[in-house]
Amino acid sequence: MSIKARLLGSAVSHWGADPWARGSWSLIGRHGTPQDRIALGTPVGDRLRIAGEATHPTRAGMTHGAYEQGLAAAAWAIERGHPGVLVVGAGMAGLAAARALAERGVQVRIREARDRIGGRTAGVDVAGGAFDLGANWLQQYDDNVLARLAERLGLTTVVTDFTDPLVLNAHPIPHGIEDDLRDRLAAAGPQASVADVLGDWLRAPAPWTPDQIHRLADAEIVMDAGVPLTWLSARHGFEPGVGEGDRWIVGGYRLLTAHLAAGLDIRLGRPVDRIDVQPGTVVVSGGEVREAADAVIVTVPLPVLAAGAITFDPPLPESHRTALSHLGAGRVEKVILRFDRRFWPEHGYYRVHGPAENCISEWLDATAADGTPTLVGLFAGPWQDTLWTGSDDEIAARATEIIRAAAEPW
Ligand SMILES: Cc1cc2nc3c(=O)[nH]c(=O)nc-3n(C[C@H](O)[C@H](O)[C@H](O)COP(=O)(O)OP(=O)(O)OC[C@H]3O[C@@H](n4cnc5c(N)ncnc54)[C@H](O)[C@@H]3O)c2cc1C
Repeated sequence: MSIKARLLGSAVSHWGADPWARGSWSLIGRHGTPQDRIALGTPVGDRLRIAGEATHPTRAGMTHGAYEQGLAAAAWAIERGHPGVLVVGAGMAGLAAARALAERGVQVRIREARDRIGGRTAGVDVAGGAFDLGANWLQQYDDNVLARLAERLGLTTVVTDFTDPLVLNAHPIPHGIEDDLRDRLAAAGPQASVADVLGDWLRAPAPWTPDQIHRLADAEIVMDAGVPLTWLSARHGFEPGVGEGDRWIVGGYRLLTAHLAAGLDIRLGRPVDRIDVQPGTVVVSGGEVREAADAVIVTVPLPVLAAGAITFDPPLPESHRTALSHLGAGRVEKVILRFDRRFWPEHGYYRVHGPAENCISEWLDATAADGTPTLVGLFAGPWQDTLWTGSDDEIAARATEIIRAAAEPW
């Protein structure tokens, strides 16, 4: 009789329900194009600029894209000669902007809603180890400014091979089908959704089977986006990102954010709810607290802006509001599970298909962090609705049963 591995500790994310995130990362809906990202990041007059991952035309949804947009916003404020700048949000974009401004002698203050820095990078301690509940990998590693920073800081990183996940509970997706998907998405009409393309394909699936097409869509698109495929743009919804050579950081992203934040004037627990751009000044308010600055850089997540959490006076221009309506965010949630012994095969990265269409999870073996058997699960699609109920311990227990059922037969 085999003895079950014991769960030593767990952590569960709630990005969808988090009022300061309202989702995981930004995506382009069927009415949008990458031009919307550019429009959103275009300065509004001389004193207001929106930055953050959603404004990067080619590296959206990633930490280094956010960082680059923070730097671009800082360069804009420096070019305009603003002596005092207020930055809203202490995620990767806000930290990058504030650090670059401080290094150039600008008086810079950050106002952050949460009681921690890092935004959608979120370090968490689980059973004696440090892991990431938000961003996990340094993507596009060879051309990633944060990867260079991690190297300069001497951080230990571990490669993940996303090209070869071990599919635990289904047949692997056949070679060649991904190229077919990409060709079909690229050839789609301007406002077609991914669901439109899949619908056409499923009417004439040969040489593939409908099941192979469904599993491909779940693995390549649902897992990558976490939004309904009827909303996601066929042409633009599948943006560059996860690839060969991506690396995760032993000890987590907070080793980078703590470095970036060192010495900066950051006030935590200070949500901003109003920004008034007036002649010669900007007034940034949160509740009763009002602060004046020469310029403001706003790095809050796209869905937070779209939900109207910050009132702008004058209102954002039409081009920015249109961009906000064309872009959106998906929901990919994470579970970190640590065990007293390994019950899964040695491989590094795994995929588990769910019981219904679009239910998908992928799993990173993060044991290399400190030798304790550890799995980091990412869940997307309607599976979340059934799994993400009750307490975190209950969610972790359900996730544990899913990976046990899939991995133990190996
Ligand atoms: C589960 C998950 C996995 C991911 N995996 C990866 C990955 O492997 N690799 C990768 O590169 N990227 C990944 N990402 C995406 C990455 O985390 C983000 O693209 C990046 O961190 C965004 O940085 P940002 O500065 O634009 O926004 P954020 O990090 O969200 O920072 C915005 C800040 O604004 C604050 N804020 C919000 N509202 C207000 C307000 N009203 N007033 C004041 N402050 C406010 C927030 O609290 C937050 O700190 C992942 C994200 C998630 C959720």
